[in-house]
Amino acid sequence: LPAPRLECLQGADVAALLPHPARESDKYRRGVLGIAAGSDAYPGAAVLAVGGALRTGVGMVRYAGPSGVCSRVLDRWPEAVVSASDPGLRVAAWAVGPGRGTGEQSREELEEVLETDLPVLVDADAITLLAEDPRALQERSAPTLLTPHAGELARLLPGTDRGTVEERRLEHVERAAEEYGCTVLLKGSTTVVAQPGRPAAANLTGTPLLAAAGSGDVLSGMAGALLASGLRPREAALAAAHLHGLAARLARGGAPVSAGDLVEAVPRAVAEVSALA
Ligand code: AMP
Ligand code: MG
Repeated sequence: LPAPRLECLQGADVAALLPHPARESDKYRRGVLGIAAGSDAYPGAAVLAVGGALRTGVGMVRYAGPSGVCSRVLDRWPEAVVSASDPGLRVAAWAVGPGRGTGEQSREELEEVLETDLPVLVDADAITLLAEDPRALQERSAPTLLTPHAGELARLLPGTDRGTVEERRLEHVERAAEEYGCTVLLKGSTTVVAQPGRPAAANLTGTPLLAAAGSGDVLSGMAGALLASGLRPREAALAAAHLHGLAARLARGGAPVSAGDLVEAVPRAVAEVSALA
């Protein structure tokens, strides 16, 4: 039989991927996630990404950003450790980009993070920067996960636009994974994950309830937490997408959810999936 072109993970498959803190765990061994998200213009992206990570489960979240945003993050998540932007922070993985802006500082920060040998999740504004100058990614061999929506994916593939990506999502996400040599999660009506050399995989739990401002920022924190926990990019992406969709369904019994509701529902999604193990 030919290898399947598209895989779909069931809840039990995702359960098997989720990290379980062991008796001898400590916060460092569980994983430290660095988050470089949010800006004075979009502080909410930082708060949501940090929340998504904390509720998915990780040893520590280190938030790096402008001091005004650090205060906002701490107000909502006192368990986060915050500091001014510093790609040299000791972390196990990075999540970079949501609400960060595309200015010179963001560009330098992205470059420095991509120069590390740590797993890195690149989302939102950081994808826009990457599309303008992909050199730091091309030189990188450490695990990398891009999480574009259709518009962001189109920026990565010159000659395409949001519409052509939406028409043939699988083809475009596979092309981006090949061209950039990393794992790509394409967000939207059906979230698909591609990685060179592996069949693409679709997430089955998605719901249009997720089409709301900030929900992508929550996903970045969730997938980042799983990367910091030691999952590989493809598995982190698929498990995060599965939990994210489930959280949207559970949050308000099918009624509309805001991104903050999503964060609050993540523990229920994790518990529901874990019960399938
Ligand atoms: P972003 O575009 O970064 O705000 O992320 C939006 C989030 O909502 C992603 O996780 C998408 O997969 C999800 N999403 C957006 N539109 C839909 C849709 N029509 N059906 C299912 N999920 C969606
Ligand atoms: Mg987004």
